[in-house]
Amino acid sequence: MVPKVRLPDARKMITLEVVANTRLSPSFANITLGGPELEHFKPAGDDQAVRLFFPREGQEKLRMPRVNSEAWIAELLVMSKASRPWVRNFTIRRARPELNEVDIEIVLHADTPASAWVRRARPGDPAGIFDIGLTYLPPARAEWQMLVGDESALPAILAILDDAPESLAAQVYLEVPETADIRPDIVVPEGVHVHWLARDGADGLPGTLALDAIRQATLPPGRFYTWVAGESRMATGLRRHLVNDRDVPKPDIAFIGYWKHGRSSPG
Ligand SMILES: Cc1cc2nc3c(=O)[nH]c(=O)nc-3n(C[C@H](O)[C@H](O)[C@H](O)COP(=O)(O)OP(=O)(O)OC[C@H]3O[C@@H](n4cnc5c(N)ncnc54)[C@H](O)[C@@H]3O)c2cc1C
Repeated sequence: MVPKVRLPDARKMITLEVVANTRLSPSFANITLGGPELEHFKPAGDDQAVRLFFPREGQEKLRMPRVNSEAWIAELLVMSKASRPWVRNFTIRRARPELNEVDIEIVLHADTPASAWVRRARPGDPAGIFDIGLTYLPPARAEWQMLVGDESALPAILAILDDAPESLAAQVYLEVPETADIRPDIVVPEGVHVHWLARDGADGLPGTLALDAIRQATLPPGRFYTWVAGESRMATGLRRHLVNDRDVPKPDIAFIGYWKHGRSSPG
């Protein structure tokens, strides 16, 4: 199923600069991007995500697509590989429109294009964004919510929790690579229970611990909305469990494969 997406009314290709590159924990870095073109970006909060364009190794300049629509993909494909930027999807963790800045938290895992860029990104380096909207759209009928993510969805879930009303009741399952990646200081509404799960070298795909924990959990009563994102087998596996074993209606589940084990993102 293609998740329901709320797209912005108008969007533009935006070219920015790295303002800061800060290591948050063993597996996470925060990249702050800024620049005057952010006046064209409308922060929507929650899991709002962007295509992030960044230079390949050795490219001094960033060649951004010019079209402000999904036709950017065709534009990118006709560029020679030597001049084409990398493009990956990331969440806007925080926006500070008054400073023309946004934060993006990126998981460092092996020597992939995004991880390698984060390791070399310095203030002043170019990067670009294109808004792709958000998928966290809880219906009014939900009495409580279940939010589930592996490390790739941690920024989205933290942003959702930052924007949550005080009345939110939720069970939140967050799986991270290491105990040292847990954010012990997050502040959440009283009715929100956060279950941190750290793999700490355990075997299995990211998301397995979260899936197992939910399979064994006694969930609160009442109709609930689930938002799950991360490794695609975790997202589809959770949906299958909720629908088949817990009789959850399909429209009450938003499941988004953020990445696929063993496959690079296109672009
Ligand atoms: C809407 C949306 C929002 C997202 N938000 C974020 C975000 O805020 N922060 C974030 O870090 N990620 C986020 N992701 C996931 C991110 O786009 C992918 O992880 C992406 O593949 C990273 O690119 P890469 O260059 O590191 O790896 P790729 O070149 O795409 O993949 C190379 C290899 O690494 C593996 N791989 C990819 N991602 C991971 C991972 N997280 N852990 C372990 N192995 C991996 C792949 O399976 C492949 O084998 C988001 C994805 C979507 C669709």
